[in-house]
Amino acid sequence: MGIDFDKLKVQGVKVNYFYICKRKLWLFSKGISMEQNSDRVLYGKLVHKNAYPRLKKREVLIDDILKLDIMDKTYVKEIKVSSKMTEADKMQLLYYLYYLKQLGIEKKGMINYVKERKLEEISLTAEYEKKIENTLVEINRILKMETPPALKKLPYCKKCAYYEFCYALEED
Ligand code: SF4
Repeated sequence: MGIDFDKLKVQGVKVNYFYICKRKLWLFSKGISMEQNSDRVLYGKLVHKNAYPRLKKREVLIDDILKLDIMDKTYVKEIKVSSKMTEADKMQLLYYLYYLKQLGIEKKGMINYVKERKLEEISLTAEYEKKIENTLVEINRILKMETPPALKKLPYCKKCAYYEFCYALEED
């Protein structure tokens, strides 16, 4: 049983955040943005700018929703600083492949982990399609929540742009 994709589609970054932290997804979706203050975000932007310097075509915008780093004949390529958030990165790219498939475009995915100089190829299987559909349903459920999901201490909270926001009341 498929989903009503047009009603459920979201930006790729939301799929990424869903797999990192549901609270982060909710805060971001409400326009609470602290990302511009994060050194890590600035570093990530620089890495993006400098990867594949010889390639002319960069950042493909689709439906004003998806911003693909690179798309060529065979692949959608995503550039990531490191492989610390592998599942989130992988699901974001699989979502891009799923989205393109709804438009009649079939591609494979490639993630370039710049720090580790590692390339990972992924393909959209039927199993992944189902996982993406379940993820979109869950994301839309979270976006409709009136208050953010409860704070759950995660190993990467200290590096998150929302750290001060989440932990302001927890400090001694
Ligand atoms: S600080 Fe932790 S709990 Fe808060 S949004 Fe970031 S990852 Fe989620």
